[in-house]
Amino acid sequence: MTTLIDNTDLAGPLAAYRGLGDAVLSERIEAVRRRMGERLVILGHHYQQDGVIAHADLQGDSYQLSKSAAERQQCEAIAFCGVHFMAETADILVNRPEKVAARVSAAAPPAAGAGRRVTVVLPDMAAGCSMADMAAIEQVEDAWADLGSVIDTSDITPVTYINSAASLKAFCGRHGGIVCTSSNARAVLDWAFAKRKRVLFFPDQHLGRNTARKMGIPLDEMCVWNPHDPGLGGNDAGQLHKSRVILWQGHCSVHAMFKPEHVDAMRTNLPGVKVLVHPECSMEVVDKADLVGSTSYILKQVEEAAPGTTWAIGTELHLVKRLEQNHPEQTIRFLSPVVCMCATMYRIDLAHLCWSLEHLERGRPVNVIRVDDETAQWAVTALKRMLAVS
Ligand code: SF4
Repeated sequence: MTTLIDNTDLAGPLAAYRGLGDAVLSERIEAVRRRMGERLVILGHHYQQDGVIAHADLQGDSYQLSKSAAERQQCEAIAFCGVHFMAETADILVNRPEKVAARVSAAAPPAAGAGRRVTVVLPDMAAGCSMADMAAIEQVEDAWADLGSVIDTSDITPVTYINSAASLKAFCGRHGGIVCTSSNARAVLDWAFAKRKRVLFFPDQHLGRNTARKMGIPLDEMCVWNPHDPGLGGNDAGQLHKSRVILWQGHCSVHAMFKPEHVDAMRTNLPGVKVLVHPECSMEVVDKADLVGSTSYILKQVEEAAPGTTWAIGTELHLVKRLEQNHPEQTIRFLSPVVCMCATMYRIDLAHLCWSLEHLERGRPVNVIRVDDETAQWAVTALKRMLAVS
């Protein structure tokens, strides 16, 4: 369970910040950064809007950001410009360094949180993740019990994508399971199948399916668990017995917007185009793409491509736009004709950032994300397993 410390009444209303223009807000954010120096680290996820990214000390994906923040010796406070589960991961990795002993490389310095607590704030508590919200811990516990009525759960390794609540990571820790990222999902599934014969993969069915197919697991050895269907998640006992991979019926609302016909249209309109997509896209899109990989993989492909390369990229809009700006020597197009951006992450704007930073500086933090110790301990267990295999 995550604790929210909301000192809004003490700190003053957010409304007062909403009327300020971007220039004033930016100036005040920078003033806090100057005054707090290395005691403050602002983390900006790749999908964040440009105005916010401009103030970030570090830019990256959720796991990279938390890992890098954990290495900042002087850090006392983190403002995570991302979504809720990311701030939880930061709290776990930064504030339990002694437990995540292998969290970074062996050569890494002691973590920021060693011996003291780093305050982690999410500038807007409404910045959630629709995918993470598709798997509530109660639903996962119920599914586990239902599965146990049909198959032996000691044969199943639960695997959660890092884009999930801390409670789900803890569930995996308790049940011999593991966390994965979009970069290491293959290695994690290899590890899981070396131990047990089945995997329950949540919350993103697409990452699970795309990874399992790449390993050669046929579709008829996978099934989808619908948490809203009380009858074995919409499966019969025979299907569950046959399934090596049980996929949670969850998805990213951003990556679900990309369709196979978008790939067809790009190939027609841009001869020679390379289609590059994230594995949170559907199997049908992945099947038509040239290249598939995590955010870091997408960045690397574009950074290393020859001038004149033409790309159609299927991932979050802000990231693609930034790539377009940073690589004028290449032609970069957004794969979908529809705007696909992470609407929840977009809630973090300059007003929320300024509001949260000024209250942090005054010692009256708002929107503090703190994962309770028991949840954190089991989540760390699952994260350590991931670190050991990737
Ligand atoms: S892009 Fe998708 S998975 Fe990532 S935070 Fe937004 S809704 Fe969640």
